[in-house]
Amino acid sequence: MATIRIDNVKKRFGQTEVIHGVDIDINDGEFIVIVGPSGCGKSTLLRMVAGLETVTSGEVQIHGKRVNELEPMDRNIAMVFQNYALYPHMSVFDNMAYGLKIAGTAKAEIAERVDKAAQMLQLGDYLDRKPRQLSGGQRQRVAMGRAIVRKPAVFLFDEPLSNLDAKLRVQMRLEIKALQRDLGITSLYVTHDQVEAMTLADRMVVMNAGVAEQIGAPMDVYQDPRTMFVGGFIGSPP
Ligand code: ADP
Ligand code: MG
Repeated sequence: MATIRIDNVKKRFGQTEVIHGVDIDINDGEFIVIVGPSGCGKSTLLRMVAGLETVTSGEVQIHGKRVNELEPMDRNIAMVFQNYALYPHMSVFDNMAYGLKIAGTAKAEIAERVDKAAQMLQLGDYLDRKPRQLSGGQRQRVAMGRAIVRKPAVFLFDEPLSNLDAKLRVQMRLEIKALQRDLGITSLYVTHDQVEAMTLADRMVVMNAGVAEQIGAPMDVYQDPRTMFVGGFIGSPP
């Protein structure tokens, strides 16, 4: 059974339909990247998967249950955004621990999970710092850490690297990939960056104007684009 099933999902804002019936099945442990130009509907689709936005028609299922019928805590989804929204007055440790505290996790368990994540993310020496005392890459890692400690079944990423400079973006891309592989967490990652999509994806979804034009392994999409748009978008340099 697919971990996430996006089944003929449509979305209208007022009179305007912006998602025109998208189907994507995401398997357990898979890293799926949705790639497409700005405004094509990537964030809206991701927000519907997260249950943050209702679907106009069709449905999103996670582990066989409709996402809107699951309580937020039971969705077991962690999201990493472009604006990490770390709490500026809290230490790195507290930022990473916050969600677990809210969920009522025991103190010792919290400490263990945060320490483990901090080691994975090379943040072990920075746990007492405030976000403003960190580099952009480190802040991004804290946002990742905050997501990881909750041991989510599903990771959702919305252009998490787009605020970083080019060099750091490449480095963090590799880190995210390695981490996802180690943890085996089913991931849906949204970006407008073709290279990022090609590097990260087990399968990529090329999206254009609210339509998933092609879904497949990066090299298959690259070598055998099915539409003019896919050919132009994936073939062209970033
Ligand atoms: P992307 O993430 O690919 O840049 P979005 O999902 O943000 O695209 O937006 C897709 C389309 O939906 C755009 O035309 C955008 O203006 C529109 N849109 C997104 N959110 C809203 C909203 N809350 N109300 C009205 N229109 C919206
Ligand atoms: Mg977006």
